[in-house]
Amino acid sequence: MLTLNDPSLLRQQAYIDGAWCDADESATVDVINPATGDKLGTVPHMGARETRRAIEAAAAAWPAWRKKTARERSLVLRKWNDLMLENADDLARIMTAEQGKPLAEAKGEVAYAASFLEWFGEQAKRVAGETLQSPWPDRRIVVTKEPVGVCAAITPWNFPAAMITRKVGPALAAGCPIVLKPAELTPYSALALAVLAERAGVPKGVFSVVVGDAKAIGGELTGNPTVRKLSFTGSTAVGRLLMEQCAPTIKKVSLELGGNASFIVFDDADLDAAVEGAIASKYRNAGQTCVCANRIYVQDGIYEAFAAKLVAAVEKLKVGNGVEAGVNQGPLIEEKAVLKVEQHIADALAKGARLLLGGKRHALGHSFFQPTVLADVTADMAVAREETFGPLAPLFRFSTEDEVIALANDTEFGLASYFYSRDIGRVWRVAEQIETGMVGVNTGLISTEVAPFGGVKQSGLGREGSIYGMDDYLVVKYICMGT
Ligand code: ADP
Repeated sequence: MLTLNDPSLLRQQAYIDGAWCDADESATVDVINPATGDKLGTVPHMGARETRRAIEAAAAAWPAWRKKTARERSLVLRKWNDLMLENADDLARIMTAEQGKPLAEAKGEVAYAASFLEWFGEQAKRVAGETLQSPWPDRRIVVTKEPVGVCAAITPWNFPAAMITRKVGPALAAGCPIVLKPAELTPYSALALAVLAERAGVPKGVFSVVVGDAKAIGGELTGNPTVRKLSFTGSTAVGRLLMEQCAPTIKKVSLELGGNASFIVFDDADLDAAVEGAIASKYRNAGQTCVCANRIYVQDGIYEAFAAKLVAAVEKLKVGNGVEAGVNQGPLIEEKAVLKVEQHIADALAKGARLLLGGKRHALGHSFFQPTVLADVTADMAVAREETFGPLAPLFRFSTEDEVIALANDTEFGLASYFYSRDIGRVWRVAEQIETGMVGVNTGLISTEVAPFGGVKQSGLGREGSIYGMDDYLVVKYICMGT
């Protein structure tokens, strides 16, 4: 079992209307440690009825929460941020146990997650309207911003804390209550956040966590007319479905969906920096992030040199249980994830790719997989079209700038992209032509609470984090004032 400094952070109940509760039918599901296959505990298996209660509680809590001053809400968020940082070790242990990422990465995520509470707590005080020039001598035009109302969030397992605070932070800051459905594989991180929210003074009903049947809970969150906004992070397929389910009640939606990030290395790149960036972008979280490099395009002149340096660096990655010191790559989240990586490798090899490193399940068993590098990968292979979401680096070859821009944009996704070049003219040309919401130039890491995160094309709608992240939780009101 998990040893924590504060064992009360590990909750095996849901949190609705300020109370810890079981499912109406007392049903539970197990939560598994992917590194060991051991059962960590259970959580309630809830459905539409419990979700409806959480939504009703949110609606009841809304008037008092929106009436608070921005500073009062800000202080609660600040306190919640502080509590997360004070309990970072325990939160990281819970995360590694249920998700598998190395402890150092988990701690990094806890700090990143807390930063959204701090940031949006500060931004709460900066929500401002405008007075516009009136075309009439006897009327004034005033624009205010108001909280949109009861919000819903559905979040994935790959960032069990940060994807929550990135939604709950701005919602609470804006004056909205929010009902969260975390991923069924990583509920304990979400519930630990609820413990700290309660301690920070988030009033009952303002933040509830419902766990259980994704379809039933999602159906209620999207169908219930009281919910005015849904924010979802997850796969494009589920995002599309949820958007459809939100259509009858015309909810505002924010979607952060799948990616198929290109990572381009031009002849003039600093190769060592590009290798370092590729490792960070590809192998972080065992390749299970929506901004992970999925297609690595390397220009002719440096192709073999880059491949050799990358293999040498990937060979050094230590695979193991995330709680062990020095581990760089934990297990994949579940067996299904391993099958996808295996499929992509088999498909690529069958179509002529060259295996440079790895390629197999790791000797540690469970869902551990060898960090893998493939060369001579081409556009007709599955990995060119679909997100692998695993530790597989496929190296494509290209000759010209125009060719690689066309290849990089040849996907329905448009979340993140990366490229390495030292030519300033090329940097501008490529950055402007790449069709993604985010571009990393000479870097493989771009995420911060200060910058707008989000995609174009079928990678999503809206932006999270930054000065733009609050807009999704606000509505504009025009007041025409006669004199
Ligand atoms: P991933 O591939 O990251 O698991 P999913 O889109 O399947 O992506 O999951 C992201 C989140 O969406 C999770 O919280 C999951 O429970 C939820 N989810 C999956 N299917 C549905 C659905 N039909 N309705 C509502 N939520 C869903």
